[in-house]
Amino acid sequence: MPCKSCRSVNQSKFSGEIGIHFPGLKNIDKPVVWVFPEVAVCLDCGTAEFAVPEAELRLLAKGDAASAG
Ligand SMILES: [Zn+2]
Repeated sequence: MPCKSCRSVNQSKFSGEIGIHFPGLKNIDKPVVWVFPEVAVCLDCGTAEFAVPEAELRLLAKGDAASAG
């Protein structure tokens, strides 16, 4: 699948390790959500894509709901 940003097919897959923080000062005490996805990186423009696994996705959704209420 070509890059969504520059349409290059020069992409590689890597093992990623990403800590997702909830933004803003009010969320400073919330724990970081760690995900270890496969990351597809466009070697021409640097666009990176990954999917958050379901368990971590639930944590993100829960955290968002908590900060909204
Ligand atoms: Zn690209």
